[in-house]
Amino acid sequence: SMASPALLMRVVASAYSVAEKAATIVRNVMSAGDLGIVEKAGPNDLQTKADRLVQMSICASLARKFPKVTIIGEEELPADDVTEDLIEDGHCEEILKKPCPAQYTGIKEEELVIWVDPLDGTKEYTEGLLDHVTVLIGIAYGGKAIAGVINQPYYNYEAGANAVLGRTIWGVLGMGAFGFQLTEAPAGKHIVVTTRSHSSALVNECITALNPDHVIRVGGAGNKIIQLIEGKASAYVFASPGCKKWDTCAPEAILHAVGGKITDIRGNSFQYNKEVKHMNSAGVLATLRNYDYYASRIPNTVKESLVP
Ligand code: AMP
Ligand code: MG
Ligand code: MG
Repeated sequence: SMASPALLMRVVASAYSVAEKAATIVRNVMSAGDLGIVEKAGPNDLQTKADRLVQMSICASLARKFPKVTIIGEEELPADDVTEDLIEDGHCEEILKKPCPAQYTGIKEEELVIWVDPLDGTKEYTEGLLDHVTVLIGIAYGGKAIAGVINQPYYNYEAGANAVLGRTIWGVLGMGAFGFQLTEAPAGKHIVVTTRSHSSALVNECITALNPDHVIRVGGAGNKIIQLIEGKASAYVFASPGCKKWDTCAPEAILHAVGGKITDIRGNSFQYNKEVKHMNSAGVLATLRNYDYYASRIPNTVKESLVP
């Protein structure tokens, strides 16, 4: 008889369906029209009803199936009972059928940490830049991001009524990443993607030093990694604190699964064990190719301004 699928593949298969449910919630809150916006640290750090409901949905759904896994979500929420309509108990059969990479077949629940950004790009969500929004579920083992799901609830929303709205991208280290077409950025061009709503003098100084041919300013860490793997940009550069472990875990797993690289601005890799500091204080540098080209051109003055 078939051995039962490895825990990691069961978690990824469930996270896929949980992220699709999350996307439905994100769209429903927007179409209902009451975003219930709350300021967290300030006007550039927002939470909406969608952030709250999606986090409850993802965390409760995964905790019910995998009770010993550590789940860390972005939002601080009261420990209310989650209503049954928020629970997703399905999984993606296609993922479950794939073999687990050999190095991950023995993983136990206690050894996994799941980092959840229920809605990445909240500022843009509130401003109607809907395709900037993603739902991020990152899976870490031994301090490393090893698997991830990125759902883009409004993918195709400007492509007309016949286009299928939304998509789910997923990946596992050693397997690859799926749900999109891996595309190289234009050869010989330096296209930098960076923040739209969290800029600073240092962020701009760093980009200027790279002398890019073009700069794309969009919201969301998940969205910016999608720009890299679909060849829209050649580097994601953010010389500032602000981005957190739930922003980078799922994107990192997917980018690394297709041969890319993400570090802080100083070149240090991120750690995702449950005790780690949430803030990526030394910013973000990510590429699909030519990481060394960009890393070698970050000014020392910029690196020294960012303390890990
Ligand atoms: P952005 O590229 O500005 O969309 O930022 C990527 C992620 O990091 C989003 O989840 C932002 O909310 C978060 N982030 C970046 N900078 C800040 C900041 N200064 N304050 C709060 N969150 C931030
Ligand atoms: Mg975020
Ligand atoms: Mg968020």
